[in-house]
Amino acid sequence: MQIKDKTFEPFISEDELLSAIKNVADKINKDYQNERVIFIVVLNGAFMFASDLIKNIELDCEITFVKVKSYEGTSTTGNVHEVMGLTTNIKNKHVIIVEDIVDTGLTLEKLYTMLQMHHPQSIKTATMLFKPDAFRGKNPPKYVGMEIENRFIIGHGLDYEEEGRNIRDIYKIVEKEKMLNLVLFGPPGAGKGTQSKNIVDEFGLIHLSTGDVFRYNIGNQTELGKLAKSYIDKGQLVPDEVTINMLKSEVNKHDNPKGFIFDGFPRTSAQAGALDEFLAEKGESITGMIALDVPEDELKERLRKRAIDSGRTDDADPNIIANRIAVYKKETEPVMDFYKAQNKLYIINGLGDINEITESIVSAIKSL
Ligand code: 5GP
Repeated sequence: MQIKDKTFEPFISEDELLSAIKNVADKINKDYQNERVIFIVVLNGAFMFASDLIKNIELDCEITFVKVKSYEGTSTTGNVHEVMGLTTNIKNKHVIIVEDIVDTGLTLEKLYTMLQMHHPQSIKTATMLFKPDAFRGKNPPKYVGMEIENRFIIGHGLDYEEEGRNIRDIYKIVEKEKMLNLVLFGPPGAGKGTQSKNIVDEFGLIHLSTGDVFRYNIGNQTELGKLAKSYIDKGQLVPDEVTINMLKSEVNKHDNPKGFIFDGFPRTSAQAGALDEFLAEKGESITGMIALDVPEDELKERLRKRAIDSGRTDDADPNIIANRIAVYKKETEPVMDFYKAQNKLYIINGLGDINEITESIVSAIKSL
């Protein structure tokens, strides 16, 4: 099951839950025979558990609600806010806190502190689910429906970003293996083409070169291609947004990819920022930037030879070559700084035997 960007798989059926909840109710009925109890239901998630539980309670009881919040998305913020406080007098009464799930126990700590100020006779906790491996509190729950592993779950009242509460069974999150996303960088002549092919073969990645993506979109006259062409025809640079949108649509064409090699992209810090944002929406990120380092004299020599070999003698002009290298440096240095600041920059010596360079890249990637 998919909720927003997360995938969930079945974990506990409603029947199993209901029988665990019935056991909790039986224990409470036994422990509090002839006593009066105030159940304090912790909203929002506990509403369904509270209903299942309290239907099976045979004691004299009162039911009241408080609302606290500590979770954002799929992890606890560690910061528990009281959103709706206590409205019932609990002085000298037996209190049972009704929680959907006890995770770190921080919410319980906060509730205990808050309730103790009202001098109840006793406080205990009943929870539908308990994650013992995550628990760091002082007051473990007395009544536990089921103990579960430390994974994010939804259903039976529990939500992911406010969705999934109405699902009767409990589902747990499927932790996807993280993608290996590389940005391959290098000046013209550094051997990016050759090396990206070798890396693709080694790691089963998808190679995305901006050049190919542009040619595809323009050649097939896609909307984005037409838009890009309109700038190129006027001799203007294609705006970042258009380039990024082309790349996004290319990335989105692949189901469950192992990862991508971005070649010739991002070219600016703004593009790098947009790429980070786009990947973050998928719960992914750039794993590292591999930058091939080749001395300028060697680059000039390689480019000159390449131009002559391919018959593009114009490109062999030393001024043109020097200009291409200068443009590259000016454009790309800020992008390198962008990844360096994230501790993701790996500079590889691009001089020497092709296979040895591949080996250095592969071992850098494996160390990521
Ligand atoms: P604690 O303060 O014990 O870490 O977390 C308690 C609250 O966090 C619960 O009442 C619940 O709202 C939320 N929570 C903890 N674990 C999960 C989980 O696996 N799934 C969902 N949906 N919420 C959780």
